[in-house]
Amino acid sequence: MNKDSRIFIAGHRGLVGSAIHRELTRLGYTHVLTRPRAELDLLDPEAVNEFFATEKPEYVFLAAAKVGGILANNTYPADFIRDNLVLQTNIIDASYRNGVKRLLFLGSSCIYPKLAPQPMPESSLLTGPLEPTNRPYALAKIAGIEMCWSYNRQYGTRYLAAMPTNLYGPGDNYDLANSHVLPALIRKTADAIRTGAPAVTVWGSGTPRRELLYSDDLAQACVFLMNLEDERYNTLFTENQAPLINIGTGEDVTIRELAETVAKVLGFKGSLEFDSSKPDGTPRKLMDVARLHALGWHHTTGLEEGIRRTWEQVQDRLPAAS
Ligand code: GDP
Repeated sequence: MNKDSRIFIAGHRGLVGSAIHRELTRLGYTHVLTRPRAELDLLDPEAVNEFFATEKPEYVFLAAAKVGGILANNTYPADFIRDNLVLQTNIIDASYRNGVKRLLFLGSSCIYPKLAPQPMPESSLLTGPLEPTNRPYALAKIAGIEMCWSYNRQYGTRYLAAMPTNLYGPGDNYDLANSHVLPALIRKTADAIRTGAPAVTVWGSGTPRRELLYSDDLAQACVFLMNLEDERYNTLFTENQAPLINIGTGEDVTIRELAETVAKVLGFKGSLEFDSSKPDGTPRKLMDVARLHALGWHHTTGLEEGIRRTWEQVQDRLPAAS
C-alpha cells in the first residue's frame, strides 16, 4: 500500500477494525475509507456494490462480522450464520467486481475442528467436527475462506484469509451477556472492586486454555500482511492449500490464570468462584503461527501488559456495577 492508497476498512467500529484504523492513521495513510452502519448497510448487496463502484477502494480489510461469546452464539445461531454469510459475500464479490488489489478476510480460530491438534496449523481446516457452540459462525467463516480461494482460482485474485486467535483490547464488547471471556472478566472484576464483593464468578471449570492477542498487535500483523512484497505474498497462494494464515502469539493460559492476571492488574484481592453450570467450550485453542513467524512477524505485547493497557483505556467507560 502507498500512503495515499484507497483503503476500505469494513467494520471500522469493531475491535479489529478500530485497531486497524488506528494503526493506519498512526502510520500516516491518508485515504482510509470507513462508513458507519447508518450510511452503508453491509447486508445490502446493491448498497455495497454501489459504494465500491463510487469509492474504488484498492485494498480491503474485511473486519465486519457479527461476533460474540459462547452465550450469544448459542442464543442467536441463525443471526450468526445469516449475517456473516451475507455481508462477507457482498464485500468479497464487490471487491472482485471493482478491481480491488488485495483483500484481507478476518475470521477466527473457531474455524478449526474442536479436536484439532494443538497448536492448530492452517492445514487442520476441515479435518474434523467443529465445536457446536459456535458452529454457525465458524461455518460462515469457512465459507468465506473457500470463497476467497475460489475467486483466486477462477478470477486470479489474491484474497487472503487471516484467522486471529482470541483477541482483546479497548474496543471490545463489555456487555456480560454476549462478551468474550477477557472483557467479561475485566468487567466482573471491576464490579467486584466497586461493590466490595468478596468473589468474582468465572464461568466453567477454569481449566480450558486460551491464547490471547492484543488488538493493536493484530492490526500490526494485518497491515504487515497487506504490505508484503509480491514475492513473499504470493508464497501464501498455492494450488493445494487454502489462502489462510493464523495470527496469534503461539502461547496460551488457563481461564483460571487469565482471571488471576486480571485480578492482579486491577488490584482485586478477593477470591475466584467457578460456575460449572456455564459451558467450558473448546478445551484448548492455540494457533500454530509458524507460517506467520516465517514471514517475519511476531507479537510484541505480553498478556499482562495488554490487560494493563486495556484497563487504562476502559476503566472510566465501563457501565456501572449492577
Ligand atoms: P470461546 O473462546 O469461543 O470458547 O468463547 P469465550 O471467550 O466466551 O469463552 C472462553 C472460555 O472462558 C470458556 O471456557 C468460558 O466458559 C470461560 N469464561 C469464564 N468466565 C467467562 C465469562 O464471564 N464470560 C465468557 N464469555 N466466558 C467466560
